[in-house]
Amino acid sequence: MNKTTIIPPSGVSAPGESQRHPLDAFRFCPRCGHDPLSTEHERAVRCGVCGFLFFFNTAAASAAFLFHADKLILCVRAREPGRDKLDLPGGFVEYDESLEQGLQREIREELNIVTEDLTYLCSAPNDYLYAGVLYKVTDLFFTGVVKDIEGIEPADDVGGYVLVKPEDIDPARFAFPSTRTAFQYLLSLLPAYRHATYPHSRHSLSAEL
Ligand SMILES: [Zn+2]
Repeated sequence: MNKTTIIPPSGVSAPGESQRHPLDAFRFCPRCGHDPLSTEHERAVRCGVCGFLFFFNTAAASAAFLFHADKLILCVRAREPGRDKLDLPGGFVEYDESLEQGLQREIREELNIVTEDLTYLCSAPNDYLYAGVLYKVTDLFFTGVVKDIEGIEPADDVGGYVLVKPEDIDPARFAFPSTRTAFQYLLSLLPAYRHATYPHSRHSLSAEL
């Protein structure tokens, strides 16, 4: 999706305006053109003429807290929503992809780096307002380790990247509340996570004991 080429249909809110329910973006039946569609329940519409029924299910997006030694690799968003704020590498899962495949692809596309291991961390709901349309999203967060960042190169649609210790990150700098929630959870697990990520330090500790 290229945000610069999408023109919202007339009548819908522009980016930055108050958020709408996803169903507000649809008025006519996409199968027979009948007006209006009736709301079946919170996330479904039904056409009273042809019976067309459509569910606006949540979209899945995956993102990763990638560690390089004791620092996180974070992206800087180049576009709205959340322009210039911090974000994780990741994005919407494509059709017929697994979460892990989608995440590996996004990491490769956005930063030109690879991570072999991805470990599930947690999930959180997210509202993604894009071109005046509200998408309800379930963000799934993973952790990973990137040993080699020599070839790291942000894509054109990524504003840049930063390497920063988790303790030095102000959560308010993240673009999305869901990322802040996951980040706080990551912070609470960090001592145990580092223990597991760097087993040599555990062995050193055992040797000392
Ligand atoms: Zn219809």
